[in-house]
Order: sequence, then C-alpha cells, then structure tokens
Amino acid sequence: MSENTNEFNQPDPEQYSPNKKGPIGRMLSPVAGFGVTFSTLFRPVVTEQYLPNTGKKKNEAHIRPRYHGLHKLNRYADGLEKCIGCELCAWACPADAILVEAAANTPDAQYSPGERYGRVYQVNYLRCIFCAYCIQACPTRALTMSNEFEIVGQTRESMIYEKENLLVPLAEGMLQPPHPMVEGTTDADYYKGNITGPTQAQVDWVREHRPDDPSLATAKVAEVNAR
Ligand code: SF4
Ligand code: SF4
Repeated sequence: MSENTNEFNQPDPEQYSPNKKGPIGRMLSPVAGFGVTFSTLFRPVVTEQYLPNTGKKKNEAHIRPRYHGLHKLNRYADGLEKCIGCELCAWACPADAILVEAAANTPDAQYSPGERYGRVYQVNYLRCIFCAYCIQACPTRALTMSNEFEIVGQTRESMIYEKENLLVPLAEGMLQPPHPMVEGTTDADYYKGNITGPTQAQVDWVREHRPDDPSLATAKVAEVNAR
C-alpha cells in the first residue's frame, strides 16, 4: 500500500511533465488563449438569423434537402389515401409519438385501397425526435417527412397534430375520397404505381353521391390506368 502511494506522489518525470514551457511561454500562455477568439473575428459569419429577422420568405430558408420536418400523409393519383392504418409506423417509433386507429373501408366509404384506412392519425411533436424510423416502416409510402420546420404551438394539445393537419391536400386533377377504387384494380395495382388518376366511373360515383363536391369541377380523368 505504502509503495503504491510513493509511486503516486513521485510520478516518473519522463512520462509526466505538466509544463514544459519556458518563462516566456508561460508569460504568453494567457494571451495565446485569445488567439482562437481573435482569429474567429475575421472569419465569415456562419450563424443564420431566423427568417422574420431577415425579411426572407420561408422558401428562401437554407434547408438541407434531406432535412426531416413535418410528416405528410400522401395520396394516390386518384385522390385515395395511401395510409392503410397498419400501425407499423407507430410500432417502429422509439418515442411512442404516433397514434393510429384504423377503420374498415366500405363500398359507400372507401378512403384508401384495400380493406382499411387510417381513421385517426396523430403525431405528438412534443415526443417526436425526427428520426424517420416511421418513414422506413411504412409499407405503402403513405408517410413521408417534408422540409416544413415551423412546428410550434402554445399548448401541449396543439403540438399533437391530427390527420387533417398531416394529410396532403388534393393535387391537381385528384378526386376527393371517399370513392371506389379504380374499377378492375386491386390494392396491389395501387402499390405498384399503376394508378395515374381518377376514372370516369369514379367521377360518376362521386357525382351521384356528393353532387356538390368541389373536386368534381377540377378532377381530371386519367387516359390510362394500368390494370
Ligand atoms: S420521426 Fe421518429 S420519433 Fe418522430 S414519429 Fe417518426 S419514428 Fe417517431
Ligand atoms: S402511415 Fe404507413 S405505416 Fe403508418 S399506419 Fe399508415 S400505412 Fe401503416
């Protein structure tokens, strides 16, 4: 015990020499510490001001192309939702930030191809760590992440985004669901990307069931929907 203590009190000077500087080096040491500070003063500024402070618009923000922002729930070209309510995204989420409740599609209310759709879809942005595991887990590419970075709220409840906050709006030519799938197709045709837009039969179905639907005026019937 005492032998070890002596070793500790008398370190080998060949291996341990805390200050090898001479008197001038020791005198300049405090000033040398400012070298980094002074040299940085003359380098270009890398700090980016938040947009409202710069007068820039949001689309001028300097965002990396693969930035993980707000989630998006996507649609097929005929307007049906890609989400089938399988909950794989929720199970993959390490932060337990996603809640999905599925419901059955019916002939009168078909929201997505196949048997089920996501009736409830929530992302809790107080929990989300933007890791994108949910994106990787999604089998239909229903879920993606956008570059939208302004995810804010004044209450805890407002930080839970609902399906209506995440579902993308209809793109040009799409038909508002619910409506039947493209006639003669299965959900596999949708997954393979064979659907290029609504058909006349789908437009007619919506016209019969929801004659006031505004998407009827803009729906563009696809010339070819591969079967
Ligand atoms: S990005 Fe990550 S933390 Fe956020 S919801 Fe998806 S899996 Fe969960
Ligand atoms: S977003 Fe994708 S993984 Fe999540 S429930 Fe919908 S289809 Fe399933």
